[in-house]
Amino acid sequence: MPPRTARKASGGAPRATEPTSPANKRKTNDTAELSSPARRSKRVKSTDELKAVSAGSAKTNGAVKEEVKEETKVAVVEEADDKLAVTEKSTTKKRKTKQEKEAEMLPLRARTPGLRMFVGAHVSAAKGVFNSINNSTHIGGNAFALFLKSQRKWDNPPLQDDHRDQFRKLCAEQNYDAAQHILPHGSYLVNLAQEDKAKAKQAYDAFLNDLQRCEALGIKLYNFHPGSANQTTHSSALTRLAKALTAALTATTSVIPVLETMCGHGSTIGGKLSEFRDLLALIPSDLHPRIGICIDTCHSFAAGYDLSSPSGFKSFLSEFDSLIGLHHLRALHLNDSKAPRGSKRDLHANIGTGFLGLRAFHNVMNEKRFENLPMVLETPIDRPDPSAKAGAKKASTVADPRVWAEEIALLESLIGMDPEGEEFKGLEERLSEEGREMREKQQEQYDRKVETEKKKQAKAGQRSLMDMMGGSKGKKGKKQEEESEDEGCQSHSEE
Ligand SMILES: [Zn+2]
Ligand SMILES: [Zn+2]
Repeated sequence: MPPRTARKASGGAPRATEPTSPANKRKTNDTAELSSPARRSKRVKSTDELKAVSAGSAKTNGAVKEEVKEETKVAVVEEADDKLAVTEKSTTKKRKTKQEKEAEMLPLRARTPGLRMFVGAHVSAAKGVFNSINNSTHIGGNAFALFLKSQRKWDNPPLQDDHRDQFRKLCAEQNYDAAQHILPHGSYLVNLAQEDKAKAKQAYDAFLNDLQRCEALGIKLYNFHPGSANQTTHSSALTRLAKALTAALTATTSVIPVLETMCGHGSTIGGKLSEFRDLLALIPSDLHPRIGICIDTCHSFAAGYDLSSPSGFKSFLSEFDSLIGLHHLRALHLNDSKAPRGSKRDLHANIGTGFLGLRAFHNVMNEKRFENLPMVLETPIDRPDPSAKAGAKKASTVADPRVWAEEIALLESLIGMDPEGEEFKGLEERLSEEGREMREKQQEQYDRKVETEKKKQAKAGQRSLMDMMGGSKGKKGKKQEEESEDEGCQSHSEE
């Protein structure tokens, strides 16, 4: 949907103009379907708010929910090529015109009221934390994540009082429950399992400062990466992490640090669910109610868990429950995975296009135990900058939040949808096709890596045999291949 249409429609009542897009053909049926009470109650309690904004879509009155879905399909198809061609690394800043800025202010999509599933995205908090609220409303998010300060710098100015007040005011005005549905993301620099004393103190101070910011803002949940053991043993790293967490919990009163599941690459903590159980065992039990876990679907899948098949998803949750306890589950990061299951690579893909596939997200969106948890998209939204000079050395990209608006609509539409029905199958197939080329490329890369690993191991086996026979020649292998392509939890640029 071009932004111009959204702009025209968002202010007033829905227009009665006939849609031109062929994807809206099913309108009559959809209206009937939506007014059926059974279906309605499952999906949306009230469509009034959506009708008012029926915004970008602005077609006929009844088919609001379905419209969102139809738009998703259309837009997803339109943008497929761009999305896949995205260059994620380099971003050139450019100045926006006044009109462009104004157009950006208008919501791309209305928030869906009355849902029990709270879906949103990791939005920008550039130029003040309070801006995140408008940025989330802009894409129709009912939950969201943000960085409380620069995620790649140690030194940050303190939270300004007026920023804090503005944040609280906008939360109240726009009906965001900061205690439940806002989930800041910690700095990438912080490793609480750090061995070096000076670095550990620096990490702890930055972490505690973030927790204090949460408390000032009325935010209860704070997501962060468990960290890395680096050259040390995993168990010593867990001990250091537990100690730092215990100290931080004691130094604060209400905030709940939420540890994110990781893909288990190298010495990273948090790939296996059992590691969280081991960590909890090292923390005084009276503090346990203040320890949360966030499932990142891409990370846990890359760590080897099957979240795609309904049976795999079920056993993942029962393993979670028996090892950790589902009461510790406080949030989810919703990302598809560009890399295959077990690849231990942190490569987020757009929903339905990766190796997880749409079925995984159908599992998520229909899981009763996830009700009321913040679910945050961290999917790629950078696309080639249309105004970039042709032939420029570096491909420049722009962040396009429409991708998230569409993904939120898509995810919400999965609530109560029959996974064996035509509608789901159609969506699943279309999105899977969009990601096919990317998956093939990644699969090839993964297969090659597995092959190289095997050869290495075979060589190492020979070497250790020589060692045993006294013919050793230095045993250190090559440094682990750097996977610089991995982009982590924020795969787009933030100004
Ligand atoms: Zn993360
Ligand atoms: Zn994440």
